[in-house]
Amino acid sequence: MALLEVKELTKRFGGLVANKDINLSVGEGEIVAIIGPNGAGKSTLFNGLVGYHEPTSGTVTFGGKSMLGLKPEQVAAMGLVRTYQIPRNFGQMTVLENAMVGALLRHPRLADAREAARKVLDLVGLADRADVKAAGLNVAGQKRVELARALATEPRMLLLDEVAGGLNPTEAIALADILRGIHQSGVTLVIVEHVLEVVMRLAQRVLVLNFGQMIAEGPPQEIVRNPTVIEAYLGR
Ligand code: ADP
Ligand code: MG
Repeated sequence: MALLEVKELTKRFGGLVANKDINLSVGEGEIVAIIGPNGAGKSTLFNGLVGYHEPTSGTVTFGGKSMLGLKPEQVAAMGLVRTYQIPRNFGQMTVLENAMVGALLRHPRLADAREAARKVLDLVGLADRADVKAAGLNVAGQKRVELARALATEPRMLLLDEVAGGLNPTEAIALADILRGIHQSGVTLVIVEHVLEVVMRLAQRVLVLNFGQMIAEGPPQEIVRNPTVIEAYLGR
């Protein structure tokens, strides 16, 4: 059975259908990318999966258990965690303390959380910035802090929302390497990503959302040549 199973997921905001009948299945150990134009419903989908909002209809099962009705912190405790497009860091706290916020989920003792957080900072390449205030980092650094806080919760699956957004090509490639390391450490990844370079480097499978619906699915090399997908991007 897949680690994450989404069936017929629909989310309405008044008259707007942001997600329509979405079916999605992600197996343990996969790296899946979700792409689609702005407003396609990608972030809304992530919100529905982690309990940030209640889907209008459909089911979400993670690790064989229904996630519907659970709060984000309960979903995180089950091992499913998302990051945000715009980092939600604690700017006046240090990089290490930001990672500790995540680590406290599994390590209630501060000393243990600190130790776990340090390991995470190693993984995301922030070890040398541990004592800097998060707000003092550049965009690439702040994105890594966001990633570190999520990773510190020790998820089985990470949902990454445009984690390479706003990075220059060198920073994006460095980030792709970090994500590969995270994947190799045993975390299943679902990435919403506009930076094609990152998608092509990492994803084993790409799903395409347009106007709230899944319109295509396939290996990255095929998806970028798929006429329906090209039309979705150019047709706006
Ligand atoms: P994407 O992440 O693919 O760019 P979103 O999921 O953010 O798209 O948005 C999908 C659609 O849902 C957009 O039209 C957006 O304006 C709308 N939307 C998202 N969140 C809300 C909300 N909380 N209330 C009303 N409309 C929303
Ligand atoms: Mg979005």
